[in-house]
Amino acid sequence: MLNKLETIIGLEVHIELKTKTKLFCSCPNCEEAMPNTNICPICLGHPGVLPVLNEEALKKILLLGKALGGKIPETASFDRKSYFYPDLPKGYQISQFFLPLVKGGFLEIEIDNQRKKIDLERIHLEEDAAKLLHSDQGRGGEPPSRRSGALACRESGSFVDFNRAGVPLAELVTRPELRSPGEAKVFLETLRLIARYLDISEAEMQKGQMRCDANVSLRPIGEKVFFAKTEIKNLNSFRAVEDALSYEIKRQTEFWEEGNPPQTNSTRGWDEKKKNTLIQREKEESFDYRYFPEPDLPFLEIKNLPFWGDEFLVEELPLAKKDRFIKMYGFSSEEAKILTSNLKLADFTEKIISELKKNSSPLDKFGTLPLSKFGTLPENEKKLMKLTANWLINRLWPAFAKASADRPQLVDPKNFVEFILLIFQNKISSTLGQQVLGEMVETGKGPNQIIEKNKLEVMADEGEIEKKVKEIIEKNPKVVADFKKGKENVLQFLIGLVMKETKGKAEPKLVREILKKIL
Ligand SMILES: [Zn+2]
Repeated sequence: MLNKLETIIGLEVHIELKTKTKLFCSCPNCEEAMPNTNICPICLGHPGVLPVLNEEALKKILLLGKALGGKIPETASFDRKSYFYPDLPKGYQISQFFLPLVKGGFLEIEIDNQRKKIDLERIHLEEDAAKLLHSDQGRGGEPPSRRSGALACRESGSFVDFNRAGVPLAELVTRPELRSPGEAKVFLETLRLIARYLDISEAEMQKGQMRCDANVSLRPIGEKVFFAKTEIKNLNSFRAVEDALSYEIKRQTEFWEEGNPPQTNSTRGWDEKKKNTLIQREKEESFDYRYFPEPDLPFLEIKNLPFWGDEFLVEELPLAKKDRFIKMYGFSSEEAKILTSNLKLADFTEKIISELKKNSSPLDKFGTLPLSKFGTLPENEKKLMKLTANWLINRLWPAFAKASADRPQLVDPKNFVEFILLIFQNKISSTLGQQVLGEMVETGKGPNQIIEKNKLEVMADEGEIEKKVKEIIEKNPKVVADFKKGKENVLQFLIGLVMKETKGKAEPKLVREILKKIL
């Protein structure tokens, strides 16, 4: 009888580093140009040329290594990885094999509210290969655009675009410590967020800025050794990673159940359309690549690098920020997760909070303590934080996300705080609030200015609301009878009528209270 099987997954992730120029030459690092326009004798591998290392790429990979707790060795060097393929003009790729820039480290993931540290083997720097474009026979006629490959599609055959040749890549290799496709997906999502926090890459998988090969094997639970693994290639979305791994686990499980576990390592490609993996080759071993030290690049003495020192500081990582948001500001775990899912949003949130702290007087006036004593938040402050999180997450952030790059700051933090306080003090209803915030985003004006201009007064006079409520009750005897029979949900309908009658100016919470009281 077969013991239960466990899944062993390791990832090799390539991240394109955001630099002005390529890794060893001064060609722009920009793939979106017309094919084969960002090229030179160095990235085309002409004889007699010499590579010069890009300092920006070096800084960015060291930043990533430090952020992930890796060990930065005293000396690092480059090696040639030899293989022949049409996308590799030199016949070898400059990579790092013997002395990588980062050894070890870990990346912490959170899945189902559990934290898990995934250890890393190494992170090294290497150059990207060119891009191969295959177009099907007879599939011509697409209009040319500036997108790479569009020209090639007008003809049939295979084409090479060397714009990508020599683009800097950080390759990160994990230890085989992931145990499910879900964990692999969360690992990649977390890594993408960290890359964005550190501003080393947008790490968008669909754009090829982050690419992943996944190694997967199975073994009976309790077993210590590893069995033959499959390396899955061509994974270009989080979804593909999850789907391909699930497919491969199922495929391998069948072999195990037949008493015939896989014997040799192999490489398989993921077919997104057919949702299956297909054998490409038996896996090469590193000796197949005949690695040897790159003679054209000097050894790197890290501590002698001009930028290496105390000022080489690392941004607070997303999970640490999330923990701090929960502890200091009283956000829920889910709120803190969203508020830290983007560095701009996280920074904006902190500006809001510091503004709220400064603005102790309007808070005092309305019975709220200044947000100065973090740790144990009084009830009112908790309510205020909850309200702030809601408006940030549900209303302001979607507008932020849509905004163009030239308007990075849509709303002045001071104005937003003013706005939140108006809502908090029930001076405007949330219905009106949406209108006001929409206009704030649109015009950059403050909330009071908008309210004054549009004469958006709020009806907070209980007597006046009560009058309207009574009118509505009189006009709708049947609905009222339904409510008295126990149909609680008609209450919402009545609230809606009152809101309509008052043109959205009444505070819905107050309307509900008054309705309930009268009924
Ligand atoms: Zn070049």
